[in-house]
Amino acid sequence: MTSALMGTYRQADVAFERGEGMTLYDDAGKAYLDFNAGIAVSCLGHAHPHLVATLKDQAEKLWHTSNLYRIAHAERLAERLCAASFADRVFFTNSGAEAIECAIKTARRYFFDQGEPDRYEIVTLTAAFHGRTLAAVAAAGKAEGFGPATPGFRQVVAGAIEDLTAAIGPQTAAVMLEPVQGEGGVVPLPDVFLRDVRRICDERGLLLIADEIQCGMGRTGKLFAHEWADIRPDIVAAAKGIGGGFPLGACLATDAVAAAMVPGTHGSTYGGNPLATAVGNAVLDELLKPGFMGHVIAMGEALHQALAHFAERYHNQVEDMRGRGLMWGIKLRDGLVNREVVATALRHGLLTAPAGDNVIRLLPPLILTQPHIDQAMERLGAALTEAEQTARTVA
Ligand SMILES: *Cc1c(COP(=O)(O)O)cnc(C)c1O
Repeated sequence: MTSALMGTYRQADVAFERGEGMTLYDDAGKAYLDFNAGIAVSCLGHAHPHLVATLKDQAEKLWHTSNLYRIAHAERLAERLCAASFADRVFFTNSGAEAIECAIKTARRYFFDQGEPDRYEIVTLTAAFHGRTLAAVAAAGKAEGFGPATPGFRQVVAGAIEDLTAAIGPQTAAVMLEPVQGEGGVVPLPDVFLRDVRRICDERGLLLIADEIQCGMGRTGKLFAHEWADIRPDIVAAAKGIGGGFPLGACLATDAVAAAMVPGTHGSTYGGNPLATAVGNAVLDELLKPGFMGHVIAMGEALHQALAHFAERYHNQVEDMRGRGLMWGIKLRDGLVNREVVATALRHGLLTAPAGDNVIRLLPPLILTQPHIDQAMERLGAALTEAEQTARTVA
């Protein structure tokens, strides 16, 4: 299986042709239950009528004008995101990594503006993932092999508040974390840890940046996952679910912090263009509907319960499961490899995604119902059994 694409991805040999709700169809017509949602992107499933209608309508009117002119859909989306969150200002991007870049630049520029240009270091956590730009890989401690790592990041052990406190010095500008770590293996940071970080940031005059690119936009049953800990960050990076499949990201900030981002400090040619932000508003129409987050919370509890039974039934294969809302990880015991189980589940008609720490990640569209959960558990069980038999034969 070769193509003219750069070999950056380990791709399964399947190509999907169309989708509807929770289901994807490959080019041979086989149906798959989607518990990956394009890695937490397709939050409303596939071909959602309101999103399709909005995209078609906007496609016939106007695609792009640039940020040299006002963009009504962008202004409206920013206003609505702020009304529903801690934020006062929004910068739109095309991806998560760009939202992180904006978050980092905003934090550093804030201190530059305050006459503290040497205060630029950002403390991050182990097992973090913030994207693939040079600054984002440096932030996650994964910059090896790409020349000198972008300076100004220091990693400490996730959850260890003493280590975090010890890493703070006069050069520290911010702490950046994912309230629920995604790529690292689906690790929800304890609410008490998030509250401690907020308190320390307040005491030391630091900014708190929440990377909610994966866990935000309703994934955990709140618009943003940090809300569960009852804290207010200074900056939030969002993407993935925000466009429901249309490339869109956002950096949200308070007025106090965003004031430093004046003309010339940042920009994006495409960021927030009419097509992207029309769809972003349509996604938000659905997420903000009364009862939508209640559905996510109820389905999250149902999935949690189903997984608890699953982990019990397959205790020889499953070591642990953890998550929040509709973001769950199943940690496999040694001897089973997550990538192989994910590949086997795909053959059984179920899409999941691997994550760090030998975890199988479940990120279903937020519109799922109980029968989807039952079917997913059935197919995952069959895949686990088959993968274990294969592993035993090989051993
Ligand atoms: C996906 C992700 C990113 C990067 O987003 P891209 O759109 O791939 O650039 C950053 N942080 C987190 C937590 C993510 O899950």
